[in-house]
Amino acid sequence: MKKVTLSKFSKEELCDYIVKQGEMKFRAEQIHSWIWAKNAKSFDDMTDVKKEFRAFLNENCQILDCRIKTRQISSDGTIKYLIEYKDGLCAEAVLMRFDNRSNLSMCVSCQVGCKMGCKFCATGKNGFKRNLEANEIVSQILLAQMDTDLKITNVVFMGQGEPFDNFENIKKAIELINKNLQISIRRMTVSTSGIVPKIYELAQNDLIPTLAISLHAPNHQIREKIMPIEKKYNIEELKKALIEFNKITKDRITIEYILIGGLNDTKECAFELIDFLKDIKCNINLIPYNPINSDIDFKKPNKKDMLKFKYLLEAFGKKVTIRLERGADIDAACGQLAGKLNN
Ligand code: SF4
Repeated sequence: MKKVTLSKFSKEELCDYIVKQGEMKFRAEQIHSWIWAKNAKSFDDMTDVKKEFRAFLNENCQILDCRIKTRQISSDGTIKYLIEYKDGLCAEAVLMRFDNRSNLSMCVSCQVGCKMGCKFCATGKNGFKRNLEANEIVSQILLAQMDTDLKITNVVFMGQGEPFDNFENIKKAIELINKNLQISIRRMTVSTSGIVPKIYELAQNDLIPTLAISLHAPNHQIREKIMPIEKKYNIEELKKALIEFNKITKDRITIEYILIGGLNDTKECAFELIDFLKDIKCNINLIPYNPINSDIDFKKPNKKDMLKFKYLLEAFGKKVTIRLERGADIDAACGQLAGKLNN
């Protein structure tokens, strides 16, 4: 018999289901709290639920319908999970702890594989398998919480896949994370390679997370070389959408920019980028390129060029950070582990 997965339900749906089994509403509230706040690993952990009903739950229900297949722990504390779904496909999720902060960030995947084909990305290289459903995305966070017994405080949709290519499930996942896991929308970030119509749509959503844009180039020519999406939605259309997003939401956008040695990290590129971003309220994240096994000959940027690039942007009033490399010893960069296993 197919078991009912309880983490799929909103609080109201869980209540309906439990009441239909002849139990009182407060029972649903207990179970909801065990799943979403107390990291219960099994129904037997739910000690204030009466024994007979736990037996019913064990027989007919499950908390999640996926599991941790592998776990790698980096010397810097980053944990990379490979999550296996019911059809045997895997996606990865990365838990990042920062020594100097109490925040615990989870980077989740939204698809198995990706259609976008960015040239610097391992996931893009391995093609697309399927979208993840909202609860499959949220399960990544629940599994990490169960595994560590820690409360995740921030969620970034920056793992495998293009979130805006799975927009409905992303919106549902955001709602579940906000309502069930009680993580504020201000602590969620969704990253896109630039599916322009969805930027306008997100600006109209009830819950609006921080928007991060994988820009990675200061002009059409370079962007086209490394990101096929540039052919469909070019950088000028993207700029208009970002200005509009700023206008509607009043929120600052995060610009992600992978520095690739000799390609987009020159002084000229920095000036072009400054010009491109002059009307956009944003912070900039510079990410040193992390070489993947690729036929493409991209280079890591050298440190001096990276710092020069950063100083130039800062001189024009932008807030710039160079993203710390987390979990480099465990392949924690975009798509590197699941890509190997889903092939
Ligand atoms: S960088 Fe993101 S959008 Fe581009 S191919 Fe990789 S996963 Fe897809």
